[in-house]
Order: sequence, then structure tokens, then C-alpha cells
Amino acid sequence: VLEVNNIEKHFGSTRVLKDVSFSLEKGNALAIIGSSGSGKTTLLRCLNFLETPNQGTIAVNGETIFDASRPVKMSDKELRSKRLHFGMVFQAFHLFPQYTALENVTLAEKLLAQERPDYKQNRKQILAEIEEHGKELLAQMGLADRTGHYPHQLSGGQQQRVAIARALALKPDILCFDEPTSALDPELTGEVLRVIRGLADQKTTMIIVTHEMAFARDVADQIIFMDDGYIVEQGDAKQVINHPKEERTRQFLSRYS
Ligand code: ATP
Repeated sequence: VLEVNNIEKHFGSTRVLKDVSFSLEKGNALAIIGSSGSGKTTLLRCLNFLETPNQGTIAVNGETIFDASRPVKMSDKELRSKRLHFGMVFQAFHLFPQYTALENVTLAEKLLAQERPDYKQNRKQILAEIEEHGKELLAQMGLADRTGHYPHQLSGGQQQRVAIARALALKPDILCFDEPTSALDPELTGEVLRVIRGLADQKTTMIIVTHEMAFARDVADQIIFMDDGYIVEQGDAKQVINHPKEERTRQFLSRYS
């Protein structure tokens, strides 16, 4: 479903991503691990067009959505449709404080629906379907009884689960998590990790940047270890965590055992 080839990203004279290539199959979960500053977040931001790589290509479902050698000026609409391939869940939730959980989940879907040719005619029914879908997603996240709550009335773990429901609402090809539990108190990380584990069991295609090594080993199919902007090692999740091939991976993992 995803092919990333030879991505480079520079900020001024700093090379933050160096010749990064990997692929991800539909239904698989990929965990990205590595020390702080190794380029993990920048890589996710490149996938989502929040950063523009200086080199390389990105293809989703066989279609090249980015090619640094052929820069094109995209309209906002084109950019949005490319971003829709990826659902993003950030470290710090980023919910809209003035909207309820359900409104946070349904907002983007409602905006997009306005572009449907039958929107004016079927407005009521379309909006009812979107609400229904939002409620289903919140129920899937264990939040059926929190749909009318505002973010400040929810715990961090609950807010993050709303953010996951929101990312799923637009049915992305690939759901991306950037350290989804690192802003949470330890007692709240479990509920978020359980939800992500559930999504993996349902074969949701995911990329998860995480510092939770045991979780990465148990939930991901593949792992990428990044260091200093390079992919140092990639492979089967259990293999990389239990029997790393590279010395740098071994050194990194030894800090977690
Ligand atoms: P962490 O685990 O701390 O989130 P990371 O592996 O996600 O780290 P990145 O956030 O991708 O790392 O950062 C990689 C490097 O790029 C860092 O040295 C950072 O300072 C640098 N960097 C990131 N964004 C920018 C920017 N907009 N301008 C300049 N340098 C940047």
C-alpha cells in the first residue's frame, strides 16, 4: 500500500532524513523506533505533506503522490486529497476544545460531505449517517458514553482515543501515530495501547512511532530502527527487538531492557 523511496530531508545544512526507503503492505503495522532527534517525526510529517522532502518518491496504492524530481504546484484541494491517504494521531491530541467528542470526530467528514453533488438534496440523511459513523467509531474506542463530552471533561487517555476515532473517520489508507502515549500519565497509556492493539488485530494498516519497545514487538509486523536520519535496520518486529543484527540497534535497545 505504501512505497517510500530514497527520501532526503534537509533543514538548511542539516540533513535530517538520509536515503530513507521502506514499504508497507496493506493490513500490516510498522513501528518506527529510534532515539530522540533521529528523524522519526520528520518522516511522518513528510508522508503527510507537512514537510516537503528534498529528494525521493512516495507512492500509495501504486500511485506516486510525491516525486521530488517533478515538483508540481498543488491546489489546496489536491493537497487535501493526498493527505487523506494518511490519518494522523499526534502526541498532544490536538482536539478542538470548543467541540464535543462526537463533533471532533465528525467535523472533517461533514465538511467534505458538502462537496458531494447530492449534498443539498440529501443533507439530512448524509449528516445523520456521518453522526452514526462517528458514534460507532467512539463506541469502538470504548467511549460510547462520552460522545457529548468536551475535551476538558475527558482524561488524557480518553482524549487520545477521541483523536484516534477522528483519524479513522475519513477512512485513511494508513493510520499514523506519533508517540501516541508519550504525553500520557503511565496509568493512562495502557488504554490507548489496547485500542491500537485492537486496530492491529483488525488489520488496520498503521505506522507507529513509539518508545514502547515491548508494545512495538508485540503489535507491529515490521520495525524500522532509525539513527541520525538513517534507517539502520528494518525487518520482522520480533527479530529486530529480540535479535537485532546491527550494533547500533543493540546499543539503543539495551537502554530499554
Ligand atoms: P523525538 O523522538 O524527540 O520526537 P524524532 O526522531 O522524531 O525525535 P525529529 O523530530 O524528526 O526527530 O527531528 C530530527 C532532527 O531534525 C532534529 O535534530 C531536529 O532538531 C531537526 N528538525 C526537525 N524539524 C526541524 C525544523 N523545522 N527546522 C530545523 N530543524 C528541524
